[in-house]
Amino acid sequence: MDIRLVNLTKIFADKNSEVRAVDNLDIVIPSGKLIGLLGPSGCGKSTTLYMIAGLLEPTMGQIFFGDEDVTNLSAEKRGIGLVFQNYALYPHLTVKQNIMFPLQNMRMPKAEILARTQKYARLVGIEDLLDRKPKQLSGGQQQRVAIARALVKEPKVLLLDEPLSNLDARLRLQTREEIKRIQRETGITTVFVTHDQEEAMSISDEIVVMKAGVEQQRGKPQDVYEQPVNQFVAKFLGTPPINIFYGKVEKGGLYIGDELIGSSNLEDQEVNIGIRPEGFEISEDGTLSVEVKQVEHIGRDTSVVASNKNTEKETFRFIVESGVEVKEHTTIKVAVKPNKCYVFDKIEEKRVQ
Ligand code: ADP
Ligand code: MG
Repeated sequence: MDIRLVNLTKIFADKNSEVRAVDNLDIVIPSGKLIGLLGPSGCGKSTTLYMIAGLLEPTMGQIFFGDEDVTNLSAEKRGIGLVFQNYALYPHLTVKQNIMFPLQNMRMPKAEILARTQKYARLVGIEDLLDRKPKQLSGGQQQRVAIARALVKEPKVLLLDEPLSNLDARLRLQTREEIKRIQRETGITTVFVTHDQEEAMSISDEIVVMKAGVEQQRGKPQDVYEQPVNQFVAKFLGTPPINIFYGKVEKGGLYIGDELIGSSNLEDQEVNIGIRPEGFEISEDGTLSVEVKQVEHIGRDTSVVASNKNTEKETFRFIVESGVEVKEHTTIKVAVKPNKCYVFDKIEEKRVQ
């Protein structure tokens, strides 16, 4: 079952202020897919999720589950499973009782309750922990219990709000793979909220990037990474992040400062030029002079911290294959790969090339 958000808007208002937390969101979440809702803190991700859940009432707009308009339907009647960052398990109940809890008001036969509890405990890999109390579990295990509890009613939609943020790095990676597997196995339409671009990119069939309540771009993670529509999206995706240089277009040439780094069909104007860290090539024929500050060897890559007087920040970072020799405290020439280089207009920071 797909989910459609139509002109969905939430304004939090009191006497003195008005926050447009979600602004005219139009999104289709395809049936059986996992969509990552991504953006910096405060951009309206949770507000969007809670409107889908029925916990917050939209100021304007509609929400459809399949053909059904659920905008005015209560949370209990929507058939959703919700998982929060902080697990929110009942501390005095065992794992088994926590998972069973949502079924107990449903007048379901005892045997079926137990069978379902077993099934979802197995699915999330905690069937050996059923008699423990939450405090006897690691964070990752607690979050699995919360996922099992969300799934046990066999909801039509699974909504996850930063479910991995309280876990340490290793568990976060493992639990994220688990969530992906569980989502695939159940085929449940899922919305996964996170501020972590790498997490969203790795787990999602599609991502929706938001800024200040407004959708910036949606698409397959790799497509959005490769074809960002504006400077905000370009900067939000990728580690190390994209580097922004101050430049210009003049008579068909693309310049950083006075150094010609490529060509352009745009009219003469000042522009911002974004270059991914993998978009530089050390070469005698390179036209951009950069001063190498620091060289770090990280596994297969060499990460170079360099400076150029036309960068947004004091230094920028680029990646070359290990084996390419780079000396610290030297000035070198680099070429820019055209397909890793984006041009943004100065006013709206929209991508223009
Ligand atoms: P995110 O989950 O992306 O971090 P939220 O959806 O929680 O962002 O919040 C979006 C904006 O709405 C923020 O500016 C936040 O301060 C504001 N906001 C959220 N909930 C409320 C509320 N209950 N009352 C007033 N403002 C709120
Ligand atoms: Mg949030």
